[in-house]
Amino acid sequence: MVVIGQNAFSDALDRIIAGAEARDTRTPERRAADAARRETEGRAYAERLAAERLAFLARAPRYAMPGGGAGRSSALTGSLRTGTEGDQGRRLHIVAEEDCGSWCATGTALCGATPGRRSHGWGDVRNEPADCPRCLARLAGAGA
Ligand SMILES: [Zn+2]
Repeated sequence: MVVIGQNAFSDALDRIIAGAEARDTRTPERRAADAARRETEGRAYAERLAAERLAFLARAPRYAMPGGGAGRSSALTGSLRTGTEGDQGRRLHIVAEEDCGSWCATGTALCGATPGRRSHGWGDVRNEPADCPRCLARLAGAGA
């Protein structure tokens, strides 16, 4: 096995970069134009993603929380270790929308369910309506 030192490694990287630049036969103007085009395409892509996200959020179920604010259908993400925890992420609870998909949120669902110690919190907003019977009962009770 060949052990390569830090300096030898960065020298090798420099040689690779220099080689790539030497092979790039575009004029500086052409390079700038290509970079500008890539940037424009990237921005258009980001705008399309954002529009799709807004459309998704507009379609997904949204619940008026008893304590104010909006709730969304979401599942526990479980832990990276096992990929599952508690109800194994199959039950869709009603969770404050700011707690959905944040990967570290420790918020409590309407029914009182909370992410476990090893959990990665609440998953992203779901398209399917919440199906946790206790969450739905709380919601119905609050609306009465
Ligand atoms: Zn619930």
